[in-house]
Amino acid sequence: MSFPEQILWLYQHQPAVLLALAMVFGLMIGSFLNVVIVRLPARLEQIDNDENEGGESAASAAGKWFLIVPPSHCPGCGHRLPWYENIPIASYLILGRKCSSCRAAISLRYPMVEALTGFLALAALWHFSLSVDSIIAFGLGCLFLVIACIDLDRLMIPDVLSLPAIWLGLAASAMGIGIVPKDAIIGAVCGYGVLALINSIYALLTQRQGIGRGDWKLAAVIGAWLGPQGLTISLMGAFLLGSLAGLVLMAAFAQGRRTAVPFGPFLAGGGVIAVYFGPDLAQWYMALIMPR
Ligand SMILES: [Zn+2]
Repeated sequence: MSFPEQILWLYQHQPAVLLALAMVFGLMIGSFLNVVIVRLPARLEQIDNDENEGGESAASAAGKWFLIVPPSHCPGCGHRLPWYENIPIASYLILGRKCSSCRAAISLRYPMVEALTGFLALAALWHFSLSVDSIIAFGLGCLFLVIACIDLDRLMIPDVLSLPAIWLGLAASAMGIGIVPKDAIIGAVCGYGVLALINSIYALLTQRQGIGRGDWKLAAVIGAWLGPQGLTISLMGAFLLGSLAGLVLMAAFAQGRRTAVPFGPFLAGGGVIAVYFGPDLAQWYMALIMPR
């Protein structure tokens, strides 16, 4: 049996085994996403600095493989992680949440990203079975997770993640994958436009910038892949999640104090909801407003 046939056989005869494999696959991808979350913004900053110092420096040329080189190490002491200290979630628990060399605490974010990615893979297979849709769902889920974490860390969303994802969504629709091209174009334009409009109104009323350009582009990604319907669900989800978080923050901290809260993570969260549950939610909503 070829590899695809083996997968199909597992799917038909041992779905639990296939779901477990999907989970393990997701955990491994999650481990890689952690690397992207930490190294990509650092690398972009480095390129920026090099350019400010004039011309392309040696660092830019040598740093092409920044996602693989240097191998995983402790950010505190530089201790290189042997493979058994680099197993998703398990190593974190076995090492007692500390670096084996310098005993510095390991951020809870690492196992959380791994667990979430594992769950995204499991949910994609569970929800969309063996299909192109499950691959798209998992890919978008991973992208949104990375963007949410980077935005939390740095209050920015790298163009290098959002722009290719917009074009890829439009190209995919043109090739008959996912939604129809008309929806992809309308979705992308509306995503960018609606948030730009909300931001202008907000800026006019408060003299402050509310939603950054990175968020407009993220909304365009969502629109390009999910169309106007998915975009609407994402935005509703984002504003709902944002309001809930705002209420919690207001309750937890002194009132009236303004803290910069990135919108990207909420938009990314809304995007995940729309990817995985969008069609179900739309159906449920239609049944609600138009009962038979
Ligand atoms: Zn260490």
